[in-house]
Amino acid sequence: MEHVAQAVDLKSFFHNQMNMISEIDDHCRQIEDDLNQFKRQGKKLFLSSSLQTHSLPLLDIIHSIDPKIPVYFIDTGYHFPETILFKDRLKKEYGYHIIELSSPVNRYQQKDSDGQLLYTSDPDYCCYINKVLPLEPILKEYDVWISGVRASQSAFRSDLGKVGKGTFDTIKYHPVLEWTNQMIYAYKNAKNLPEHPLDEQGYSSIGCLPCTRKAEVGMDPREMRWFGLNKTECGLHTETMDTK
Ligand code: SF4
Repeated sequence: MEHVAQAVDLKSFFHNQMNMISEIDDHCRQIEDDLNQFKRQGKKLFLSSSLQTHSLPLLDIIHSIDPKIPVYFIDTGYHFPETILFKDRLKKEYGYHIIELSSPVNRYQQKDSDGQLLYTSDPDYCCYINKVLPLEPILKEYDVWISGVRASQSAFRSDLGKVGKGTFDTIKYHPVLEWTNQMIYAYKNAKNLPEHPLDEQGYSSIGCLPCTRKAEVGMDPREMRWFGLNKTECGLHTETMDTK
């Protein structure tokens, strides 16, 4: 009897997987249609990516549709060395069109009145200097910012729409807003995409080294960022939505 129960479980598992792959296919077709529509309107598009494992499906989808769309990676200067090596590997082995951006404010000017680096006392301002400022020239140059935020990642993100208004008259386009973790990992596995090297060490949400910690049992993945601080969202998204 046990064997029969296992066979039924496997059958339903494969059935669910097939349904999910078909749903993902529909989403990919919709993304291609959306990009084509933006292009027909004469709009210039770019993608930003933090190059985490769960960011790679969107990077791969955009690259498959149009490899000329640039992918901007904001190098805050505080990333884990593993992230920088992973970025270099993605460029070299997978041919992704990744361009690094960095802050116009050098590290020595990023100190508070006690001489401490800003992330220790004012992480919002640190994120502004190291993430928002480097992106501003790109926002002025392009019309559509493609971003991989997902509704399940935070309360702020769950309130976003698929298309929103960004600063500098940009359109913020969130094509995978409704994707679940299962869809992200089903795509990753189907396309055999690589994993960020820190995943296997227990980091499931990876940002800057000083503001990221390892997962512990029962923790929500986003709790691994800015742990112990009254900050749950990257300023890159909160400060680049036009709320007027
Ligand atoms: S995540 Fe931390 S180190 Fe990185 S820019 Fe924000 S406050 Fe600074």
